[in-house]
Amino acid sequence: MLVRGAQGDLLRLIAGGHAESRAELARLSGLAASSVSLRVEELIGSGLLVEEGSASSRGGRRPRRLRVSPTAGLLAVADLGGRHARLGLLDLSGTPLVVEELPCDIALGPEATLNWIAASFDALLAAHGPAGVPLRGIAAGLPGPVDPASGRVVSPSRMPGWNNFPVAEHLGAHFDLPVLVENDANLLAVGEARAWPGCETVMVLKAGSGIGCGVIVNGVLHRGRGAAGDISHVRVRTDSSVTCSCGHLDCLEAYASGAALMSVLAEQGIAVERPSDIVAMVDDGIPEATALVMNAGRLIGEVLTVLVNFINPDAIVVGGSLSKAEPLISAIRAAVYERCLPLATRDLEIAVTRSGPDAALLGAGTLLLDAVLS
Ligand SMILES: [Zn+2]
Repeated sequence: MLVRGAQGDLLRLIAGGHAESRAELARLSGLAASSVSLRVEELIGSGLLVEEGSASSRGGRRPRRLRVSPTAGLLAVADLGGRHARLGLLDLSGTPLVVEELPCDIALGPEATLNWIAASFDALLAAHGPAGVPLRGIAAGLPGPVDPASGRVVSPSRMPGWNNFPVAEHLGAHFDLPVLVENDANLLAVGEARAWPGCETVMVLKAGSGIGCGVIVNGVLHRGRGAAGDISHVRVRTDSSVTCSCGHLDCLEAYASGAALMSVLAEQGIAVERPSDIVAMVDDGIPEATALVMNAGRLIGEVLTVLVNFINPDAIVVGGSLSKAEPLISAIRAAVYERCLPLATRDLEIAVTRSGPDAALLGAGTLLLDAVLS
């Protein structure tokens, strides 16, 4: 990803082992040496960076080294799905100290869910937080559209009671710290983009119970007004046969999401509990499941063709529980490569995520660090 030169970027360059001096920071960030020095002094002043090796050692002077302070702080991050949540503590370099996956039902409403998250963070800190290291901020990823200015969820599907609830305010009241609330696909996009060096513009699709997409443009998350990348309610058919969870007819989500595939299978008398069960059925060669997944991939791919021609990404990365079904990826590839302009697809990579199950938590850490430092 492109380096923008914010304090968080400088801190991450040091934390990631890419730089350990002001000169290296200036070279990698493109900032003037004077700007780098100013920001480094601020980071040292606030206890986030320390400078080591400034004294001369035996036989000669050792160059000074910038390091992230081991006691600089912790970030508490959560990624909520419809039925489960991943929660973790990260250090300020974005490295997880601990990650847990727990059952969690967002249909219980915002207050019960957020109070549970707060209590879970408190328990993680008590069990795994190093003594004397302060918590610096809180981040929560939610499977719905988030207004970045207010930290509220706006008109989400399948999240009863959450519309316009002040999520950031509620968590902030418990912790009295900076709180970042973000759409889950955006967090996945930021976390995953770190694993695609050289790719400046990346679309990261999350294919699970729902369908989401986060967009990185020139190395930066493109939020737009908050709903950028939300492809789930694009109309993909005109025969008005299926009503979507949003109330409209024939949305992509109504045909191609894990929830949609599960309800079709249920109509055929095949019971599945979660999207990963569909992946298992595909792996077992059950033709009904394979056909459904291929059709879902084709529909997703057809929506992506418009976006690929429009934005010309370097990579389309597919995550979420359905991404483990190979026919989904093949069908997306087939639709995009067949229908897009050759110049747009010549070097376009379409692949599954590289960052593993913690990608959204890593993305939350990246964005939260910027929020904490700003
Ligand atoms: Zn819809």
